[in-house]
Amino acid sequence: MSLLTHNKNLKGNNTFGIEVIASHFAEVANDIEIRQLTDSYYYNKCKHLILGMGANILFTSDFDGLVIKSNINHIEIEKEDQHFVHVKVGSGVVWNDFVHYALEHNWYGIENLVDIPGLCGGAVVQNIGAYGVEISSVVEKVRAYRMDPPRSYIELSKDECKFSYRHSIFKEPDYSNRYFITEITFKLPKDFIPNIEYKGVKQALAECRIGNPTAKGVAHAISYLRQSKLPDYHKIGSAGSFFKNPIVVYEDYKDIIGKYNLTTYPVNEEVCKLSAAQLIELAGFKGRRNGDAGVYSKHSLILCNYGNATGENLFQLALQIVEQVNYMFGIKLTPEVIVW
Ligand SMILES: Cc1cc2nc3c(=O)[nH]c(=O)nc-3n(C[C@H](O)[C@H](O)[C@H](O)COP(=O)(O)OP(=O)(O)OC[C@H]3O[C@@H](n4cnc5c(N)ncnc54)[C@H](O)[C@@H]3O)c2cc1C
Repeated sequence: MSLLTHNKNLKGNNTFGIEVIASHFAEVANDIEIRQLTDSYYYNKCKHLILGMGANILFTSDFDGLVIKSNINHIEIEKEDQHFVHVKVGSGVVWNDFVHYALEHNWYGIENLVDIPGLCGGAVVQNIGAYGVEISSVVEKVRAYRMDPPRSYIELSKDECKFSYRHSIFKEPDYSNRYFITEITFKLPKDFIPNIEYKGVKQALAECRIGNPTAKGVAHAISYLRQSKLPDYHKIGSAGSFFKNPIVVYEDYKDIIGKYNLTTYPVNEEVCKLSAAQLIELAGFKGRRNGDAGVYSKHSLILCNYGNATGENLFQLALQIVEQVNYMFGIKLTPEVIVW
């Protein structure tokens, strides 16, 4: 039977460290438990929310319902050949533990995604990305349980997951909080091809004195880089980047881009990505604090809980940023973080 508790303080279940109470909280460890839970009184009486590590969620109030967390923790080889391993991973496995597990087994392709907080289920929902790699590049299929009648398991191929920048089908209304991801199959190469072109990686390798990088060497350099830029959420609450980088049609924004000397990252011939961090910094928010809610001084894309900020305090700060950036640049920032 799933582990069910009541009036659970979620402070330890979200990396912002926001104190909110969930009326009911259940952890499920296998197929039987998730089925039993969806048949239960609590599931059928309440609204519900699937939660991973809470590394991409801002709670703005108590959750009067049932929070469901995956505790499905297996890692199993499905098949392998000389060049690839196909490995099935439970949605409750901590993503960074899996990265290190893969490194220990000489499986590659995810070393650039080291140190990203969260569980494997949440990582797929968000299509996590860092330093030139997205998780979608190694996802083969995703197994999920449709929680509402008619209850059933589905298996989605990588294409069916509709991955794009910080997006997957699991964020769309027909899927979000309706399908509970139980397992992901990753296809990981056994041949290591370093992916170190992303800005800052080569310099980090040099600073770490890593000449001919192995996958572990790349992971080490990226950890080093992340530590120099990001707050440790155990000490300063955050959810990483609060906003997505805006994607705009170059022609429509070329005057603004020229006027403020904005950095552009081409997406295709017409469209480019801008740096949300740069816009927020130019709007004067880098390092700004409203009480315990603030913008990190080393990285303006990161909103922080410096102590006892409430979710509402952080949300109000985010709204101020959106308003000022829109006023200055005519660009509406959208949150990467899910606001509840
Ligand atoms: C310090 C810091 C640095 C970060 N750096 C990065 C980074 O470099 N790149 C990046 O992409 N992200 C980054 N993030 C954001 C975060 O780590 C990722 O979005 C992460 O994948 C969230 O995983 P989670 O388990 O915490 O999901 P949660 O935040 O708990 O949930 C995210 C969403 O997934 C859904 N969900 C979770 N599990 C399941 C499941 N089993 N089935 C169905 N739906 C589910 C939830 O309902 C929610 O909608 C960072 C966060 C922090 C705190």
